[in-house]
Amino acid sequence: MSNSVRRFSCSLHVSQRKHGLRMTGGLVGGGSHTHRPLLLLRLPPTLLHKARVRSWVCACAAWTSPQTLARTSMGANKKLVHWLQWFTVFTLLFIVGFIIGWFARPADTQHEKPTRDFLREFLEEIRAGNIKQYLRKFTHLPHLAGTEQNLRLAEQIRKEWLAFGLDSAELVWYDVLLSYPNATRPNYISIVDQHGDEVVKSSLAEPVPEGYENVSDIVPPYNAYSAQGQPEGELVYVNYGRTEDFFKLQREMGINCTDKIVILRYGKIFRGNKVKNAMLAGAKGIVFYSDPADYCAEGVKPYPEGWNLPEGGVQRGNILNLNGAGDPLTPGYPAKEYTYRFSQDKRVGLPKIPVHPIGYRDAVHLLKNMGGASPPPDWKGALNVSYRIGPGFIGDFALNKVRMNVHSYKQVTRIYNVIGQIRGAQEPDRIVILGGHRDAWVFGGIDPVTGASATHETVRAAGKLLQKGWRPRRTLIFASWDAEEFGLLGSTEWAEENAKMLQQRAVAYINADSAIEGMYTLRVDCTPSLHTLAYNITKQVMSPEEGEEGMTLYDSWHKRDNWTDNRDAPRISKLGSGSDFEAFFIRLGIASGRARYTKNRKTERYSSYPVYHSVYETFELVERFYDPTFRRMEATTRVRGGVVFRLANDPVLPLDCNEYALALSQYTHTIHRLAQKHPQEMERYAVTFDALFSAVDNFTQAVQGFQQHLNTLDTTNSLSVRMVNDQLMYLERSFIDPLGLPGRPFHRHVVFAPSSHNKYVGESFPGIYDALFDIENAAEPERAWSEVKRQISIAAFTVNAAADTLRPL
Ligand SMILES: [Zn+2]
Repeated sequence: MSNSVRRFSCSLHVSQRKHGLRMTGGLVGGGSHTHRPLLLLRLPPTLLHKARVRSWVCACAAWTSPQTLARTSMGANKKLVHWLQWFTVFTLLFIVGFIIGWFARPADTQHEKPTRDFLREFLEEIRAGNIKQYLRKFTHLPHLAGTEQNLRLAEQIRKEWLAFGLDSAELVWYDVLLSYPNATRPNYISIVDQHGDEVVKSSLAEPVPEGYENVSDIVPPYNAYSAQGQPEGELVYVNYGRTEDFFKLQREMGINCTDKIVILRYGKIFRGNKVKNAMLAGAKGIVFYSDPADYCAEGVKPYPEGWNLPEGGVQRGNILNLNGAGDPLTPGYPAKEYTYRFSQDKRVGLPKIPVHPIGYRDAVHLLKNMGGASPPPDWKGALNVSYRIGPGFIGDFALNKVRMNVHSYKQVTRIYNVIGQIRGAQEPDRIVILGGHRDAWVFGGIDPVTGASATHETVRAAGKLLQKGWRPRRTLIFASWDAEEFGLLGSTEWAEENAKMLQQRAVAYINADSAIEGMYTLRVDCTPSLHTLAYNITKQVMSPEEGEEGMTLYDSWHKRDNWTDNRDAPRISKLGSGSDFEAFFIRLGIASGRARYTKNRKTERYSSYPVYHSVYETFELVERFYDPTFRRMEATTRVRGGVVFRLANDPVLPLDCNEYALALSQYTHTIHRLAQKHPQEMERYAVTFDALFSAVDNFTQAVQGFQQHLNTLDTTNSLSVRMVNDQLMYLERSFIDPLGLPGRPFHRHVVFAPSSHNKYVGESFPGIYDALFDIENAAEPERAWSEVKRQISIAAFTVNAAADTLRPL
């Protein structure tokens, strides 16, 4: 008997509970077995299984050995001999049974080697220096979606991923509707006098930062998908253009926007929501500008001396209201050559009026002579102007008007995703996706190349591990999406093309957009079942901050952003939208998450980061200000990589449904509190949340049962493991309502959706929330409250149905 088998036989002492086979330690106690239980305990479960099984050979051999027989025969006790005969029969039967069992057992337990700490090796392989090098390389030139340069970058990334060692990497194209400025008729805003002569014109481009003077193809500031036109009219200032701003303007100030051009400051919410609000209010044109109050941090100089937005800097960005539809011409279906395309009148999400952005140097000219009502205090920005509401100009300028000149065009254009793959060793039909976009408005210094560089380094580290003999249990897909800036088009089209496969096989989607947006701490937004994994990984990554040597990222994050309203742990937020996870999470119900380095949410009040979507997003911006050592990006990359690694590698999926139960309970209390602001109506229309509370109780109970089952799971039984993994994977799917939210067929998650008033933030129980929104002003209260009841019942049904998926099988 080999030494190793003897050692295995000792495992009997620690592992004799299962398999319905009962033997006592005494059976293997005799003789020369070496006891090394500690060593055995460190073996992975699959190996322990093997050890346990082998030990029976050893034990039985010991029982029937000549010495044993000799010893017992010496007593010459007839009764004992009789008993022994019986025992021998049983033993022989057992051996036969065992041999059958040995050959019949699943193959995957036979070939597993002891697991090295590949996760640690993987995290250590991810290095700041490489990320820096990729950021420099990928921000050299502009790479706007649909351009030659962005295709070349896709080809370069594909080649490098293959060289890193991925099993495959390919370009996947779609023909989608994009929008560009007209090269010969530039867009601008002007003030015209009573004769129609232009007396002031906005700049046609941003001053180019030093070192980039010779770069061609810098797209001038514009709002993609704006309608064409040259509307002329009086200006009305509507603050940020939020729903509440338009309510205040119309209901409290009594100002009508019909036929006016509105000027809105960027910030607080997604610009597409502002455009929708302004169109509903009747505006015929929209001018966006960046106010220093929202795009300059205190005590910081404008770029290049600091990281604030210079006066000539302008934020680009699309102004679609797609609600997850993807390409406006092919909602629901991949934009391939055979796909039917909608004509003009049926296109999804396009604005019907001209929209154009300017910087604050130009905005001063529009704002300084405005007349009309004084603004509420919180409508005042930081420019030296009155912020009067209008409409129109005051005094000598009263006859002047504003004219917009927008000549951008829309064109069906080919875009390219890069899809790389590592085939899973044991469960190739289960996939984990790490995806982020590649296209940028200009250089993409932060957005998206900090993210694309992080993904590139993750792919390189994974390739390195493959060379060392590692292979993930499940299939890993890496994606470099195109045309994210044009409405999440590359990711959505790919999700549409692969929807059936993804619904059946996708375990999780981790998003990899910008890796930094600030210099303070980590920010994680994810589905509740990923909370625990995010916490665990950040305990294995060190803080990148100076003065926090030896501190984990978890502790640093906890110290800097404690989730005080819920628990003593680092804050994790709900997913909204505004990046490529939307189709995966909100439409398909695939567990999703994102992580990035962010600003101090309590003290830094500016929106996003100051130079967001301007020409000043350069490599130097990151190198000089955001992350000089590149250790913040390294830490973020490790978090994303670690999460993906464990999702692809853990035998039992690291998804925690306890957290889902906790979250559902909180969301139910929150939405209930919101409804209780209307106690009379609740009573009059008999609105009750009982069914939803009861469903959440059922869900919580089902989770407890499931958790108990997990605790006693035989992890050596691959079929049992696969069964619980399927339950864990499909839990997110069970929150999908195939009919979608009212008016939003592609927002199908009953628990989470982007807010109807700000695409960037997530709303919980969005159906109920939207039904309750502004209900005090509903034209038909009875109808409005009956919609609330309908939405509560949909939520209750869905949560109950999700609970059923976790019940014992
Ligand atoms: Zn981005």
